[in-house]
Amino acid sequence: MNTRIEPAQGSLYLADTHEVSNLSRELTDYNMYMEDAALREAVQREGGQWAEPELAEFGKLTGSADYLELGNLANKFTPEFDTHDRFGNRIDLVKFHPAYHQLMKTSIEHGLHASPWTVPGPGAHVARAAKSFLHGQVEAGHGCPITMTFAAVPALRLQPELASVWEPKITARVYDPRNVPVAQKQGITIGMAMTEKQGGSDVRTNSTRAYPLGTGGPGQAYELVGHKYFVSAPMCDAFLVLAQAPGGLSCFLLPRWRPDGSKNPMQVLRLKKKMGNASNASSETELRGALAWMVGEEGRGVRTIIEMVSMTRFDCMIGSSAGMRMAASQALHHCSIRSAFGNVLNQQPLMQNVLADLALESEAAVTLTMRIARAMDHRADEHEDLLVRLVTAVGKYWICKRTPNHAYEAMECIGGSGVMEDSMMPRLYREAPVNAIWEGSGNVQCLDVLRALSKTPAVVDAFFTEVSKAQGTHVALDRFVAELAKDLRDLRDFEYRARDVVDRMALALQASLLVRNAPAFVGDAFCHSRLEQVGHHNYGTLPRGVDAAAIIARATPKAAGNGSGI
Ligand SMILES: Cc1cc2nc3c(=O)[nH]c(=O)nc-3n(C[C@H](O)[C@H](O)[C@H](O)COP(=O)(O)OP(=O)(O)OC[C@H]3O[C@@H](n4cnc5c(N)ncnc54)[C@H](O)[C@@H]3O)c2cc1C
Repeated sequence: MNTRIEPAQGSLYLADTHEVSNLSRELTDYNMYMEDAALREAVQREGGQWAEPELAEFGKLTGSADYLELGNLANKFTPEFDTHDRFGNRIDLVKFHPAYHQLMKTSIEHGLHASPWTVPGPGAHVARAAKSFLHGQVEAGHGCPITMTFAAVPALRLQPELASVWEPKITARVYDPRNVPVAQKQGITIGMAMTEKQGGSDVRTNSTRAYPLGTGGPGQAYELVGHKYFVSAPMCDAFLVLAQAPGGLSCFLLPRWRPDGSKNPMQVLRLKKKMGNASNASSETELRGALAWMVGEEGRGVRTIIEMVSMTRFDCMIGSSAGMRMAASQALHHCSIRSAFGNVLNQQPLMQNVLADLALESEAAVTLTMRIARAMDHRADEHEDLLVRLVTAVGKYWICKRTPNHAYEAMECIGGSGVMEDSMMPRLYREAPVNAIWEGSGNVQCLDVLRALSKTPAVVDAFFTEVSKAQGTHVALDRFVAELAKDLRDLRDFEYRARDVVDRMALALQASLLVRNAPAFVGDAFCHSRLEQVGHHNYGTLPRGVDAAAIIARATPKAAGNGSGI
């Protein structure tokens, strides 16, 4: 008997279940540089205009669909670690997805690891910072070894005979990921190993010992015995390491292979199980008599490695600014397409308030970052040098700390599809706290600001000279700066109050830069919302009178087939 039930004539039984409409699409195939007015203006203003043609090319690459997919792949297929090969040889090998290698290769071939050292001069740091900002929007994790390689150079230069051998390979635009001795490579990468189990912020508690193999002293060989509890990118070819020499805590350069071609016993125990930063391998290691050369003076290890750390802190500013820009771009793009209650989201007043606020925060972050890039290009100028000393700590603290909530709010703008793992948003969100925690966590940055204020009082003048360049242009800013100046002179309970003071220093600087350089609707909105408003606890609380539509139109990247909607 035939049991098949036939649909009744005219029935929709086999028809589509629903009409598909009002869907957003991926933000791809756009020029990440050309579509970023705040970045472009900063590059031109801060001395990097000569780099615009290559930045425009680079922005086309980083905004292309295939290239953005590398970021997804590098985080989906995470690094795998083998202690030994199948025969029993110790190899300490971390294997990465090809997408990770491609990101590393592009970074190195474009000089993100070294260009200001090989071609210094006006705009060198600005151009590199802009490129790093673009590449960081594609993927953050691979930026860790790129940053460490870049940052190692100033520290290594304190030991010229080591630098003369190592620097050419560090700065070469050649990516060679092979697990072989440095002698066999044209290009190498450098990591950093300071943190131990008993203390990361307070490296004075480091217990790793350094035993001289000969006379000892700067440039000489030692054997290191101990452990390092966080060593990111353990496939780097060498590491700057802190250890206790007979004369106190000192800095060392430790290669992964000895010059005789044997394996240096810096043994990786396991990879960390991290909540974010998934493409980047971070490891726990033991040093079992590992060969290393002293860099800088014995007993002055912190002083030496701080040359590296201040660079990595600056890169945290770039990285978190990049995270904010990508989060804002995703939200702005989505809300220019998606409608609810009969209107496109970015035309609805409450959503306009949220989007404009996210865009403001992002613009303030990149503006401050690029200003410090300029200062790094002009360190022979005392004012610029003092700004680098002070504002790297202020900016690292503030920008990195503003990022996690910014990522979450951008995710909320996108709604449910923003929570999905096949969106970029969960990655941005999980990455967001990392920059705030490593390279000196928030409190440590604030204490560093206090150290600078007390040890180098000239930084206070430099700070106010810089902020005062906007004096008289905005009443709220003038009032805010006057209050801040009063509080900076009052040293009572300064450590307890440090976050409050540093927050306000960051806001004053960002406001001053925006008022002077950004369109009036941006500077005004920033001052009214950040300097005047009491109780600005959430994004989307911009006061009346802000031209949110103009801010949104300025910040929305236009991808193929997508207008700003405004
Ligand atoms: C993903 C990842 C990768 C890392 N990779 C590396 C690496 O490659 N190499 C490396 O050396 N390290 C690395 N680290 C370690 C990182 O630098 C440390 O975690 C960081 O410096 C903090 O040290 P800690 O974890 O020991 O915390 P602690 O030093 O115990 O600090 C805990 C908290 O106390 C605060 N604090 C500390 N001192 C004070 C104070 N005096 N007053 C008030 N508050 C204070 C800190 O700000 C922090 O919030 C990595 C960390 C992460 C998360």
